Amino acid sequence: MRTVIEPYRIKSVERIKITTEAERVKQLEQAKYNVFKLPAAEVMIDLLTDSGTGAMSDEQWGAMMVADESYAFAKSYYKLEKQIKHIFGYKYFLPVHQGRAAEKILFSNVLSDILPNGKYKNAGANRHILSNTHFDTTRANIEFNNGTAVDLLTNEGLNPASLAPFKGNMDIEKMRNYIKKIGRENIPLCMLTITNNSNGGQPVSMANIKAVSEECKKHNIPLFLDACRFAENAYFIKMREEGYQNKSIVSICQEMFSYSDGCTFSAKKDAIVNMGGILAMNNATLYEQCKNILIITEGFESYGGLAGRDLEAMAQGLVEVVEESYLHHRIHSVNYLGTTLQKMGIPLVQPIGGHAVYVDVTKFLPHIEASQFPGIALVCALYQKGGIRACEIGSVMFGYQDASNNFIPSPMELVRLAIPRRVYTQSHIDYVIETFEAIQKITKTLRGYKMTKSEVLLRHFTAEFTQV
Ligand SMILES: *Cc1c(COP(=O)(O)O)cnc(C)c1O
Repeated sequence: MRTVIEPYRIKSVERIKITTEAERVKQLEQAKYNVFKLPAAEVMIDLLTDSGTGAMSDEQWGAMMVADESYAFAKSYYKLEKQIKHIFGYKYFLPVHQGRAAEKILFSNVLSDILPNGKYKNAGANRHILSNTHFDTTRANIEFNNGTAVDLLTNEGLNPASLAPFKGNMDIEKMRNYIKKIGRENIPLCMLTITNNSNGGQPVSMANIKAVSEECKKHNIPLFLDACRFAENAYFIKMREEGYQNKSIVSICQEMFSYSDGCTFSAKKDAIVNMGGILAMNNATLYEQCKNILIITEGFESYGGLAGRDLEAMAQGLVEVVEESYLHHRIHSVNYLGTTLQKMGIPLVQPIGGHAVYVDVTKFLPHIEASQFPGIALVCALYQKGGIRACEIGSVMFGYQDASNNFIPSPMELVRLAIPRRVYTQSHIDYVIETFEAIQKITKTLRGYKMTKSEVLLRHFTAEFTQV
């Protein structure tokens, strides 16, 4: 059959308020043209992020009802432990409230020296954490602890036009040179982000994970995975990498994790829950240190900032996310949106990633200069025409004014359409495509924006705009 059907049916629905264009024009005005400020109830299709926005299954909701809310070592903890041992295989794990909590605990340990009296002394700026590409919260947690976050992506990963199958890969040559230059003693940890979120959700190949692992072993550097989208990465390996076509998703996941010494994981992605995460590892000493900080900042080791029902939902989500029918539909749905937009001539980042489609706005709206935020022009048009909320990843997010007040644009002007898991049907996706058709007819009339208010840090959340 040609049609990849949703491998689920709907037994509970969340109603969508259908709005008119006139109503949406007013909403945009009130939100000062920043869609982060729109009330979600006024959004018809919300593609702002795939994080924590997935739909849980009846079995996840059912598991929540029978959860054990005991303080220490509840039944629900053992259910989660069983599933984590099965897929991830590490010796130790700690539940945390979301991915960045795992990052905070890990980096406050590896970027500090622990004194004989048990107190922590930050090691200063000379500790470097290597990665294919650090995600923003990962980078922020490293830099907050005075460490240096280093991205060593391959050149093909950096080339937006390249159609290479694994553009998330780390460059082994760059890694070797960096270790030589900085010295192994200054590198407490190496990380691989799978899939590579900040580089368009591009996957990392098994061969690359293995090669990075071998290089790390040579120097005795622990390798951690930022495993937020491990199941999507495994599916890409199965589809694209020689020798994996007949392997099960679980066995591919097990192999990926076997090359590493631990991971951070946001369950808001590939555990299909609204909140949760884990920190896992093989090293007993590191585990004991992390456990101490977990107990100080998150909670006891068997719940780490989560309720028993959250642990249940996560355990069941980890069963469902590695099902091939789920991943087949997931990746095809994102790919269907991407390839259809591409056929219409909408310029996109290539190839289509796992969780989102990225529009290259520099090419789509060439008449709007970076200083007038073309990404905001497209984001506002998507909302006005279709009630769709997308995310600007361009000069609002990454641009800035330098010391002489010159505008420094982001290297790329992108708009991301992130697809929540199991939330929208094919007809919702078709509607998004039709909204692009409508916008394509009026691109020349779209105008830029002027930023009228902004904060120094993370200004995309709060900035205000007027139309030029
Ligand atoms: C979302 C994400 C994180 C952070 O997880 P939170 O749950 O949002 O704190 C870290 N790394 C990657 C690759 C992510 O996508």
